[in-house]
Amino acid sequence: MIYADNAATTKLSHTVIQSMLSCMEENWGNPSSLYHFGQKTAEAVNAARERVAACIGAMPDEIYFTSGGSESDNQAIISAAKNGERNGKKHIVSSAFEHHAVLHPLKKLEKEGFEIELLPVHENGMIDPEQISQAIREDTCLVSIMYANNEIGSILPIEKIGAICREKKIPFHTDAVQAVGHLPIDVQKQNIDLLSLSAHKFHGPKGIGALYARRGIFLTNLIEGGAQERGKRSGTENVPAIIGMTIALEDSCRHMEEHTKKLLALRTQLIEGLSKIPHAALNGSVQHRLPGNVSFCFEGIEGESLLLLLDDKGICASSGSACTSGSLDPSHVLLAIGRPHEIAHGSLRLSLDAENTKEDVEQILKAVPEVVEYLRNISPLWKDKQNGKRAFIL
Ligand SMILES: *Cc1c(COP(=O)(O)O)cnc(C)c1O
Repeated sequence: MIYADNAATTKLSHTVIQSMLSCMEENWGNPSSLYHFGQKTAEAVNAARERVAACIGAMPDEIYFTSGGSESDNQAIISAAKNGERNGKKHIVSSAFEHHAVLHPLKKLEKEGFEIELLPVHENGMIDPEQISQAIREDTCLVSIMYANNEIGSILPIEKIGAICREKKIPFHTDAVQAVGHLPIDVQKQNIDLLSLSAHKFHGPKGIGALYARRGIFLTNLIEGGAQERGKRSGTENVPAIIGMTIALEDSCRHMEEHTKKLLALRTQLIEGLSKIPHAALNGSVQHRLPGNVSFCFEGIEGESLLLLLDDKGICASSGSACTSGSLDPSHVLLAIGRPHEIAHGSLRLSLDAENTKEDVEQILKAVPEVVEYLRNISPLWKDKQNGKRAFIL
């Protein structure tokens, strides 16, 4: 099997599994218990907090463990909105191609009377910091722009956007779920006030993540109860997952340069090969792109059929985002970069990781053109295009 869907989730590394196993076997006390056995666990959680903080340039007391990227996004957005509301500020700036874990809470806030401005995305998958400057108003209480897009891999100019927000004293949140462990992060240098991360996107376990909130940013609870996470996120800590995430994050950061170099070579090979397929187009820019991300649209095919046929050939990939597969709606990300509905339906995302090989890429490059050709040959729409009854778009 060739696993090329690392933007959806990643495999746990052996070291991570070992760290979690020994935690579950030996360190299973409740960190809130006062006896030594519980306190040993509390110490492990605190050490993990320090190590996670160090990986992104934060202070330990700025890290809140959550259940993952979705929860962190929700808490960051709701908190900033509530803080804004207290000061009569109810305008939020975000973008059209954010993850649903950002878009859906924003939609909810809109129903509560907030004004949500979703900036358009350039067809190359980028947002210009100038767009942020122009959108910010007196009553803006939050800017939320993702660090890297999960479908088309765009890397956004976070540092510049952060600098603009800092100058105007507006809290800046970034959904960095696709970036943490893959791109360098320094919340100080990049002027980030709130950041979401999720362990299962960097070879850690699922159901654990963190919210970084700069000192002085007041958080609103999504879950009320005990005093865990300094009262901001109740519920007994998922200690093995916290330990696993910490090990995974340190591993990813330690090998980042080496992995990036390897991935860039594989990505280039993949993009060059897939570009040879007629009536196909790369989504997003080549330049500002996650090292492992390749996203294409193929005219005249349907993404889901493509995936199923690739699965028969032992290749795991994705079309649109995992959350939208199963629905017939085309990806909001592809629509945001201006792909027409018909084209957006024929998308393929391959997200590689350092465990992928040159041989994997060669096999993908053999399989995809075969499957695309097969699907086009059985498509009446494609026949019409070839007969000139319909125009080609790509
Ligand atoms: C995966 C992902 C999320 C959601 O993270 P979970 O931990 O699965 O809840 C949010 N944002 C982006 C960009 C993602 O890729």
